[in-house]
Amino acid sequence: MHPDQHKVAAARLWAANRYPYLASAVFALSVDAVEGLGGIQVDEWWRVHLDPDVAGRWDINQLGGELLHLTAHVLRDHAGRAKAVELGDTAELAHWVDAADAEIGDDFPVDLPRARPSATATQLGCRDGGLAEEYFRSGDPLASRDGDQQWDCGSGAHGRTGPFDPPPPSSDRGERRAGVGREQQELIRQQVANDVLSADGAPPGLRRWAETRRSPTVDWRAELAAEIRRGVASRRGAVDYSYERPSRRAAAMSEIGGGHGIVALPSLRDPSIDVAVVCDTSSSVDDTLLSTALAEVEGLLRAAGIARVDVLACDDAVQAVSRVRRIEEVQLFGGGGTDMAAGLAVAQDRRPRPSVIVVLTDGFTPWPSVPPERCVVIVGLLGVDPASGLTPPDPPTWSRTVRIEATRSGPNR
Ligand SMILES: [Zn+2]
Repeated sequence: MHPDQHKVAAARLWAANRYPYLASAVFALSVDAVEGLGGIQVDEWWRVHLDPDVAGRWDINQLGGELLHLTAHVLRDHAGRAKAVELGDTAELAHWVDAADAEIGDDFPVDLPRARPSATATQLGCRDGGLAEEYFRSGDPLASRDGDQQWDCGSGAHGRTGPFDPPPPSSDRGERRAGVGREQQELIRQQVANDVLSADGAPPGLRRWAETRRSPTVDWRAELAAEIRRGVASRRGAVDYSYERPSRRAAAMSEIGGGHGIVALPSLRDPSIDVAVVCDTSSSVDDTLLSTALAEVEGLLRAAGIARVDVLACDDAVQAVSRVRRIEEVQLFGGGGTDMAAGLAVAQDRRPRPSVIVVLTDGFTPWPSVPPERCVVIVGLLGVDPASGLTPPDPPTWSRTVRIEATRSGPNR
């Protein structure tokens, strides 16, 4: 018996609406039925295992609350952190999960509806606002709970595979592969962190978590990858690019896929997506940085299985357009003034029409006042030499901006 798909979809939608900045992660979970499990768990590959009998007794809000709770475990990589702690017996495992649950407690207001109890910092004898490692070290283990498996949030919370866990996903290929691979997990974490930081009213615990991901190692490559992923996903109707809330269609799509459900943050492997890259070749642009950024975009698109890429070299007019398979093939012309609006206009007139346009520019350019129709625009804002004392105007609000700096070398992933 499969868990009621409508109920799962409704719970997911409830969760994503309630916490829109977590939506990317909530929609990345897959949900499968596991008879006899006695509850709900998540594994290290973001696969939720749900006992259909138990799910039948929960209402939609409770199921949504449980999905949010498990989302927090995988976002915070409690499995990876548990391995670093080197847990011993089951009692230690349970104590770790309690510590992780207490850490999650700060992420949500007290009224998060849950079907299962979970530990709080206070119960462990600690002040809240801490990390699972601190709670684990200095907290008092809760009294033994023989026969009660409610504490077990799964290997996604403690890193130890249990009897109900299916084998890890065997292949990185295939769009409907159940489970989220490690690299994709990192991208989703980065995306959620960005969403948390740009949201109003995200809880302090989550903001702290997001801040740690922003740290000096903010990697424009990861950010750019996340934006391109989101842009392509949104063109496929899977995520609402506006961040406001998932579309109804996303909810419907998330239920496609039968027994495996639900990978609504799809992999990028989609040959039907066309992407245009507009390169600012005006004289103010740092050529080395432009080449680096372009090579990165190429790598991302190639990894995404996107074969057709239009590259436009543009200063105050479009100088060259090529349809390329490798970006080294492109000759960049230009060197005059700057008008990226001209580049966008030409890009939009290409056939097939691009769904995603990436603009690589230093930002000293006019922009069109209205966004291109049915198209996501991602601006890779190339860093300007600080010695110049110049600051470019912000790109338009209808675009997504990733700041690309020259300071660090080499891909950080
Ligand atoms: Zn938990």
